[in-house]
Amino acid sequence: MTKLRFLTLSPAVLALACASSAPPAPPPQPSATPVAPVVAKVEAPPAPGPITIDAFTAPDDGGAVNSYLVQNDRELIVVDGQMVVPTAQALVEKIKATKKTPKAFFLTHAHPDHFLGFYVLQQAFPGVPLYATAGVKAEFDAAAKPTLEGMKGMLGAAAPAGTATVTLLEGALELGGEKLEVVELKGGEHGVSAIVRVPSLKAVIAGDNVYNNVHNWMKDCDGKTWIGHLESWKQGDPATVYYPGHGAAKGGGAELLDANIAYIQGFEAEVAKAKGKDDAAVVADAKKLVLAKFPSHRGPQFLDWTMADYLKCSKAAAKAAKASDAGKPGKAPAASPKK
Ligand SMILES: [Zn+2]
Repeated sequence: MTKLRFLTLSPAVLALACASSAPPAPPPQPSATPVAPVVAKVEAPPAPGPITIDAFTAPDDGGAVNSYLVQNDRELIVVDGQMVVPTAQALVEKIKATKKTPKAFFLTHAHPDHFLGFYVLQQAFPGVPLYATAGVKAEFDAAAKPTLEGMKGMLGAAAPAGTATVTLLEGALELGGEKLEVVELKGGEHGVSAIVRVPSLKAVIAGDNVYNNVHNWMKDCDGKTWIGHLESWKQGDPATVYYPGHGAAKGGGAELLDANIAYIQGFEAEVAKAKGKDDAAVVADAKKLVLAKFPSHRGPQFLDWTMADYLKCSKAAAKAAKASDAGKPGKAPAASPKK
């Protein structure tokens, strides 16, 4: 039996045994004639094409909210992700038509009309990171789930099944070797927001710091800070083009910034004139006055959703300012609820 087992050793073992007993191979001899190394000719890849900005705009009942496709001929970044499932799905189709998988998503601010749809986008493009700045991410992480829960009744089947996952953006976005600078802003339309600059186009994707002929979201009643941002941009390069968070998604320059300043000032002036026998009557009068002042603006539903809160927080801010003027400790207005 022992002999038989030896004879049935596998060919591999036998080969190993033979190899171990073979004499060592002789060292390679230097060639008499040096041979030039063969260098494969590698063509440098052509430079990526120029960056373009395309928009997807929700219909009016979706507040005409914009998402932007920032892309060259190879790469794509999507800024803001819509609110409801149907528009987010339409955005997915627009992205698929580019034949590119996005390299990144980016969220300008933690309002649900910009972030809820990213759940749909991340389902459609698994593994694509959704970036936000530190302040926006902190706010999103705290508010996203309760906001979705609070809106499920209103949105019904149009509500996404969950919320996206946000990754902290460290540094800038990048597209085809170009750095897209991201700047975080405090105050204004919302407590914290971010804009994206595309240097080669002199373009700024401004999120909701800029609207285009849509009623501005005034719920945070921080018009002073908002105007401050817009005025500071007017001091910059006059060739810069700003892309709005809502409304027709064509970029605009100083005239678009001025239109937003005029809206904020006009809104505040009209609301200050509102009268009524009780709070509900004042709210109704304020809406009527603003609609009469800006008759062509889209998104009148924004006034329904924000006017009562605007009146409350502006009253609190006025009281705090009065107390502060009188040298007494003032109470800061309460933080506004999210959109
Ligand atoms: Zn918005």
